[in-house]
Amino acid sequence: MKNCLICQRITAIQQHQNPWFVRELTSGYVVLADSQYFKGYTLFLAKAHVTELHLMTPAQKTRFLIEMSWVAEACALAFHADKMNIEMLGNGDAHAHWHLFPRHLGDTPKPGPVWWVDPAIMYADTATPNATELATAKAALNQALDHVLAKY
Ligand SMILES: [Zn+2]
Repeated sequence: MKNCLICQRITAIQQHQNPWFVRELTSGYVVLADSQYFKGYTLFLAKAHVTELHLMTPAQKTRFLIEMSWVAEACALAFHADKMNIEMLGNGDAHAHWHLFPRHLGDTPKPGPVWWVDPAIMYADTATPNATELATAKAALNQALDHVLAKY
């Protein structure tokens, strides 16, 4: 869809112009999030512009869910997560996408969701990785994806 930010980002991936892109799977695209306040924060974007899981075909939904679980496993492995947080929200951009957060003990002032961190801090310029940090994180996630995908 023309006005969908996620569709625009997918077009950029297809044109090799999205530096956050990590891997294409059957049902979606793995990308690192713009903010790396939570190191390894990853998104898994559905290929099709569908707004809800229940609006996907059964086969499409099953594939999207299982691949999301593989991305989450790779994310946990790559970024040594103590716990994974996985969310599909879509209030800002309705196009189906998963937020995958590798969590570490003490990474919020008290135990709770990432959204308890002030957005001004979570999305501060200092949370944007430089080119070297981005390349390192992408390589770690790609390596972990190789390992996880080989198991299934
Ligand atoms: Zn879209």
